[in-house]
Amino acid sequence: MPTLDTFRPGSLPLFDKNAPMAKKWFNIPTPPEFDDPEEERTHRKQRLASGLRLFGRFGFDEGVAGHITARDPERLDHFWVNPFGMNFKQISVSDLILVNDAGEVVEGEHPVNGAAFAIHSQVHAARPDVIAAAHSHSVYGKAFSSLGKLLDPLTQDSCAFYGDHSLFDDYTGVVLDVEEGKRIGAALGENKAVILRNHGNLTAGTTVDAAVWWFITMERTCQAQLLADAAGQTVSITPENAEITHGQVGSEIAGWFNYQPLCDWIVEEEPDLLE
Ligand SMILES: [Zn+2]
Repeated sequence: MPTLDTFRPGSLPLFDKNAPMAKKWFNIPTPPEFDDPEEERTHRKQRLASGLRLFGRFGFDEGVAGHITARDPERLDHFWVNPFGMNFKQISVSDLILVNDAGEVVEGEHPVNGAAFAIHSQVHAARPDVIAAAHSHSVYGKAFSSLGKLLDPLTQDSCAFYGDHSLFDDYTGVVLDVEEGKRIGAALGENKAVILRNHGNLTAGTTVDAAVWWFITMERTCQAQLLADAAGQTVSITPENAEITHGQVGSEIAGWFNYQPLCDWIVEEEPDLLE
C-alpha cells in the first residue's frame, strides 16, 4: 500500500509513468499505450503536429528556426520533425518528415533543418528514454539564456526544473556539426531540459506531450524570473521544498497531463492539423 512517503523526494511513484497510483489516487488519465506500431506512429505524429501549432500560437517562431522531434516507434534511430522553412502555424501531420541517422529525409517531401539533425539526432542517441525533444528561439528563453545561468526555484511551476535542467555553457555559432550536438546531449545529461547559452532552451520528454509542455512552461518560467529579477529582490523556495515540489510537478506523467487541455483546445481550433 502506498504511504505518505510517496510524496517525499527520492521516492516518487505517485507520478511515475508506470504507477497505477496516479490513476488510483487522483483519477487522472495516463498516456495511451499501443500494441500496433503504426497506431503509435500516427499518435506521435498527431501530437507532434499539435505541438508545432501551439508553438505557432505562442509566437515561439523566429523565421525558420525551431524544431520538435518525435522518435519513430520502430526505426529507433529515425525521428519525425517539422519541415525546414515551413511556418509552425501551417504544419499538418502529412507535412512531417522522417529523418534517418545520417540526416537523410526518408519520408516526406520537404528538406530537414541541418541544426535540427545535428542537435536532435544526438539528443535522441544519448537518451534512449527520450521520445521527443523541443527547441525554438522563443523570446524569454533566449533572453534568459544570455545570462549563462540556471533557473532559480522562484515559483511552484519553476520547481519542475529544480535539479532537472542544465546549462550548455558554450556558443560557437549555428549548430551544424553532430559533434556539437553530442556535447549538447552530454550537457543535457539525465535532465528534462538544457539552456543553450546565447541561443535558447531545449526540452526532452518520454512523450511528445511532455517534451512540448516542458518547453512551454520553461518559456513562462524564464519570463517569470526575468520579470521578478527586474522588479526587485526575490525569495527562493528552500531546497527541501523545491525538491518536494519537483516531485509533485516535475514528473513525466505530470508533464504529459499538463499538455492535455492545450492539445484538446488546439485540435478543436485547428482540426486540419490532423490531416
Ligand atoms: Zn536554435
